[in-house]
Amino acid sequence: MTSDAPTTDNSLRDVGATFDAVVVGAGFAGMYMLHRLRGLGLTARVYEAGGGVGGTWYWNRYPGARCDIESMQYSFSFSDELDQQWNWSEKYAPQPEILAYANHVADRFDLRRDIRFDTRVTAAAFDEQAKCWRIETDRGDSVSARFCIMAVGCLSATNRPPFAGLEDFQGPIYHTGEWPHEGVDFTGLRVGVIGTGSSAIQSIPLIASQAAALTVFQRTATYTVPAWNEPLTPAYRDAVKADYPALRAKARARPTGFYFPFNMKPALEATPEERERQYEEAWQRGGLPFLGAYGDLLFDKDANDTIADFARRKIRGIVKDPATAELLCPDNVFGCKRLCVDTGYFETYNLPHVKLVDVSKTPIGRFTPHGIAVDGVEYPLDSVVCATGFAAMTGSFDRIRITGRNGLSLADKWRAGPRTYLGLATAGFPNLFTITGPGSPSVLASMIQAIEQHVDWLADCIGHLRDIGAATIEATAPYEDDWVEHVNEVSQVSLRSTCSSWYVGANIPGRPRVFMPYIGGFPIYVQKCNEVMTNGFEGFVIDGATMPNEAPRVRLTERWRVPLDIEVISPAAIAARRVPVV
Ligand code: FAD
Ligand code: NAP
Repeated sequence: MTSDAPTTDNSLRDVGATFDAVVVGAGFAGMYMLHRLRGLGLTARVYEAGGGVGGTWYWNRYPGARCDIESMQYSFSFSDELDQQWNWSEKYAPQPEILAYANHVADRFDLRRDIRFDTRVTAAAFDEQAKCWRIETDRGDSVSARFCIMAVGCLSATNRPPFAGLEDFQGPIYHTGEWPHEGVDFTGLRVGVIGTGSSAIQSIPLIASQAAALTVFQRTATYTVPAWNEPLTPAYRDAVKADYPALRAKARARPTGFYFPFNMKPALEATPEERERQYEEAWQRGGLPFLGAYGDLLFDKDANDTIADFARRKIRGIVKDPATAELLCPDNVFGCKRLCVDTGYFETYNLPHVKLVDVSKTPIGRFTPHGIAVDGVEYPLDSVVCATGFAAMTGSFDRIRITGRNGLSLADKWRAGPRTYLGLATAGFPNLFTITGPGSPSVLASMIQAIEQHVDWLADCIGHLRDIGAATIEATAPYEDDWVEHVNEVSQVSLRSTCSSWYVGANIPGRPRVFMPYIGGFPIYVQKCNEVMTNGFEGFVIDGATMPNEAPRVRLTERWRVPLDIEVISPAAIAARRVPVV
C-alpha cells in the first residue's frame, strides 16, 4: 500500500542533534540520497518544506500536469525490482501517478522515518573549528552535520512577478507550482492565465474545458509539439521490462540521458521535400524527440529556420483565426527556450470563449479589483492562474542563508552567476554538495537519471572520505574557474544560449545572464565526473586524512560508465558532432 501521508512525527524537533548528513529536499534527489546514505551506514536527516515526498510532483498539481519524458524512462533505474514492480499507465504519466510512484518509493525503501516534512531549512553555516555544518529550520530545528546536501531542485522556487495592484484583485490567484491540493473548479468562471510555458500549455486546454471564458496573457509565443499521449499496453510494458537494463544503458549513452531515435544528418543536406517528410514523421512521433529530426538544429541557425518554419506552418494549419495564429507563431530559435509538449494546446484557441492577449510589447499594466489591465483595456476575470515559472536553478539556494569559510555567503559568491565545480560543489563551502547544481546537465537531461548519477557519485565520495578518515572535501578555485569557463564556452556553440530563457536567468528581471546548465551532453559529463573520482578527486582538496586524494574504490559510480568517443569532449568537437540536447 502506498500512502501520501507522512509517517514521521512532525511535532518532534531536532535541537542539538548531530547527523552524518543533512539533506535539504525530499524530491527524487533527496529521497535517493537518503537511501544511499543509509546504505553507507550513515545517519541522515532530510528536511522538506512540503507536506510529503515527491518535490515537483508534490507541488505542481495543476490540471494537465504530467511528465514529457516517457514514463518508462522518467523513473529511477537503481533497483531492478522497482523497475519490474511499477506499472506506468500512460506514455506520459499524469502528476498524481508520478506522485504515487514517489510515495511508493518512499514506502518501499522505508524513507519517511528520517524525513521531517513541513520544515524549511532557513540557514546552513560551516563551522570551521568543528568542521561541520550548523543547520536551522523555520520550525526551530538546530542541528549539526558533517555533510550538507542540497537537493532543493532546479525548478522549485516559484516566480511570482510583483504585478501592480495584486492586492486589489478580489478573486483567487493561483500559481501552477503551488497548486491547491484540493484542486480548483473553474466551472462558470472567467479565468486569466499568465504565461505560455510548459505549465501553461499543459493546463490551458483543461482550464478552457471548464471555464466560461479564458484569457491567456502571452509575453513570448512558444513552440510546442504534440505528445500523442496514449495508454501503455501490458504488452509494451512487458517488452520494455524484459530488457530494461538495455534501455537504461542506451539512455545513459545519449546527450539527454534518455533514449529516442535521432538523425545525425544535417538538415541543410536534405532537399526541401526530404526535410518536409522527415519533419512530418518526427511530428507524428511527437514530443521532445522532434528535435532529433536532424543533428544540427540547435547549432546552425539556417537549419533551425527550417524546423521553425515547419512548426509555424503547423500552428497556422491548426488555429483558424489568422490574427491569433500569427500571435501564436514564435519568431525565436526553435528549441532555444525549453521545448513544450502538449495535448490540444493550439486547438484550444479555436474555442469561442478563449482569447489571446499579447503582452510582449505592452506588459501587463496592473491587476484591478475585477481583472487585469493591459494597454488601457481591462479584461474582466474571476480568478487568475500564474503559470509564470520559476527562479530556475539557483532560486531555492537564494532562499537559504548559506555561509561557508570565512563568513563567505553563497549569495555573494554567486551574485554574478552560480560558480561550481561540476555542479556538485563550490569552493569555499567544504562538504556542501549540490545535486543537479548549476554547471551540471540537470535540466538538459532526463532529470531522474541526472539525479541518480550525482547521488551515486556523492555516495562513493562520502564513502571514500569515511574509509580514509577524512574530515572535509572542498572544490578548489582553479578547477572551479576552469569548469565554469568550460560550461560557458560549451554553451556558446549552441543556439540555446541566444535567447532570453530561464536557462540564462532571463525570465526574471535583475538576474545575471549566465547559461546555467552544462550543455556538453550527459555522457561527456559523466565521463568527466568518473575521471575526477578515479584520479583521486582531482580538483578537490581532501583535508584531515592520512592519505588524501588517493584513488577511491569506485562502487556506485561504475554503473554510469558508458562507451564514449573521447573526441566529443572539446566544445568545438561537440559543435562538429552537432549533438542535439533537448
Ligand atoms: P524537486 O522535485 O524540485 O524537489 C526539491 C524539494 O526541495 C522540493 O520538494 C522543495 O520543497 C524542497 N526544498 C527546497 N528548498 C527547501 C528548503 N529550504 N528547505 C526544505 N525543503 C526545501 N524533468 C524531467 O526530466 N522530465 C519531465 O518530464 C519533467 N517534468 C516536469 C514538470 C514540471 C511541472 C516541473 C516543474 C518540472 C519537471 N521536470 C521534469 C523537472 C523536475 O523538477 C525533475 O524531473 C525532478 O522532479 C526534480 O527532482 P528534485 O528532487 O531534484 O527537485
Ligand atoms: P516557464 O517555462 O518559465 O514559463 C513561464 C511563462 O510565464 C512564460 O511564458 C513567461 O514568458 C511568462 N511570464 C513570466 N513572467 C511574466 C510576466 N511578468 N508577464 C507576462 N508573462 C510572464 O515556466 P513553466 O511553464 O512553469 O515551466 C518551467 C519548466 O518546468 C519547463 O521549461 C520544463 O522544464 C518544466 N516543466 C515541464 C513540464 C512537462 O511538460 N513535463 C510541465 C511544466 C514545467 P517569457 O517566455 O516571456 O519569459
